[in-house]
Amino acid sequence: MGRWLNAIIRIATVEKMIYTCKACGFSEGRGILPGSTCGLLICIHMGIASVPLLKIVKHIFPDGLGWWWLLGGPLLFVASLIVSYLIGLFVELMEWLLFCRKKCPICGKRKWSWGYVSGFGL
Ligand SMILES: [Zn+2]
Repeated sequence: MGRWLNAIIRIATVEKMIYTCKACGFSEGRGILPGSTCGLLICIHMGIASVPLLKIVKHIFPDGLGWWWLLGGPLLFVASLIVSYLIGLFVELMEWLLFCRKKCPICGKRKWSWGYVSGFGL
């Protein structure tokens, strides 16, 4: 599991989030997160998101959805996309909070911009 996680992190860190100091304009690639546009990360998030969603569906429909899967499938897909986006935002917020405690190496202030990616991620 640990080796797997390392491999995923190594792939995901090809493009780092960039944080810019609002005071002096110094920017730094930081953290373990790629941009929120990284397809791989969205897939992981969707995997995480679909577990509780499937449990909720099973709870509401204990006998299964039957033909309703034709409607439920796409709905579940959209729902997991939304949840995965929220997870991504949450993880980014956590990283931003961690990063913001660091002082800027140039001017010593703690005014960092929200992390962003140069290019399109993936
Ligand atoms: Zn600065």
